[in-house]
Amino acid sequence: MTEYRLDMQDTKREIDWHGFNIIAGPCSIESYESLYATALELKQMGIRMLRGGAYKLRTSLHSFRGLGDAGVLHLSQVAKELDLISVSECTQVDKVEDMSRHLDVLVVGTRNMHNYPLLEALAQVPNPVILKRGIAATYSEWQAAAEYLLQYGKKDLVLCERGIRSFERETRYTLDISALPVMQRKCGLPVYIDPSHASGDRDLVPALALAAVAAGANGLMLEAAINPCTSICDASQTISLDTLGHLLKQIQAVRTAISKDV
Ligand code: PEP
Ligand code: MN
Repeated sequence: MTEYRLDMQDTKREIDWHGFNIIAGPCSIESYESLYATALELKQMGIRMLRGGAYKLRTSLHSFRGLGDAGVLHLSQVAKELDLISVSECTQVDKVEDMSRHLDVLVVGTRNMHNYPLLEALAQVPNPVILKRGIAATYSEWQAAAEYLLQYGKKDLVLCERGIRSFERETRYTLDISALPVMQRKCGLPVYIDPSHASGDRDLVPALALAAVAAGANGLMLEAAINPCTSICDASQTISLDTLGHLLKQIQAVRTAISKDV
């Protein structure tokens, strides 16, 4: 993997993680062209962080498992061309070094929150890391995983609540809003919310996103694409760019409302 390498200045771009940021993009990177088309529209909406999965950990062996290394290169190139910050999940230790060089922000997905060798490896690269909560992890277990990432003085670590496994089956997972104030207080780290995986349902994403903003989320991670219904992965929870545009206005209204002294 040598093409499209970002220079160090790009990988060190400053992000105010405690401010409010939105990360958006498709669940998985499907092609350079489709990623570029979505990313261009996101940029026009003022979104600075582009997500896209290259290595997809799928429950079924027979599902699409991502474009792999080629996906990393597509994301790196699209982000570079549009001056966006690239965000992608790193699933295994032997990909950490390459992903660190090519991409800006690395994600630990829910299935890997307890993968301590991966956390150790990600602790040693300069990239900001987003640590998603394991589907059955307690706050203390999540905090303990965060400590692995912080052990060498990582500058930017962000927690992301993405829904936990509960007895309810009508939503994909159950969004735990309490995670926001509890983990902000317990760890002093920014906490993001991923309403896409929490709900599994694009119709529910705006309501959960707004609840998260009202509860003080430091940011949102959203699955959004130019053609959401034909997404290969997680189509049912991927919102359209029209929905995203409308949601951005509502988010702004909620943020204005909660910032007012009453
Ligand atoms: C994803 O962000 O596409 C993803 C797989 O998330 P999670 O690890 O939360 O399931
Ligand atoms: Mn997904």
